[in-house]
Amino acid sequence: MSDLTDLYQEVILDHNRRPRNWGALPDPSRTASGHNPLCGDKLTLYVRLDADRITGISFEGSGCAISKASASLMTDAVKGGTIDQATALFDRFHAMVTTPIGQPVDDAALGKLAVFAGVREFPVRVKCASLAWHTLKAALGGAGGTIKTE
Ligand code: ZN
Repeated sequence: MSDLTDLYQEVILDHNRRPRNWGALPDPSRTASGHNPLCGDKLTLYVRLDADRITGISFEGSGCAISKASASLMTDAVKGGTIDQATALFDRFHAMVTTPIGQPVDDAALGKLAVFAGVREFPVRVKCASLAWHTLKAALGGAGGTIKTE
C-alpha cells in the first residue's frame, strides 16, 4: 500500500514541478478564476471551445502542490473532449474525493486522477484538489468571475 502512496505522491510532485497546459491561452472562449482561501490557492482557467468540444485549455496561478497538480491533471484529462464528458468527469472526481474513508472508491474511469483519492483523509486538501474542477465548471457554465471553495 505504501508503494502505491509513493507512486501517487510522485505523480503529484511531477505535475507540481512541471505543470501541463501552463500559461494563458490566447483568445480563450471562456475564463474563470478560483480561490481557495483556506489554503491560499488561486488559479485562472482559460478554455477554448469549438461548439461543445474543449479544443484548448490552460491555467496559471499560485498555490500548493495538490492544487497545481490537480489543475495540471484536470486540464490534461478534459482537453479534446466534450463539455458533457468534462462534466461527467467532474462528477466522478467529486464523488471520489467525497467518498468517506474506509469505503471503496470508484476510480475505474478516472485514470491518473485517481492519485487524488488520498486527499479524502485531509478535508482541507479536498478543497485544494477540487479547486480546478469547480473553476472548470464555472468556466463551462459561462458564469465566469471568481469562484470560492468557501
Ligand atoms: Zn492548497
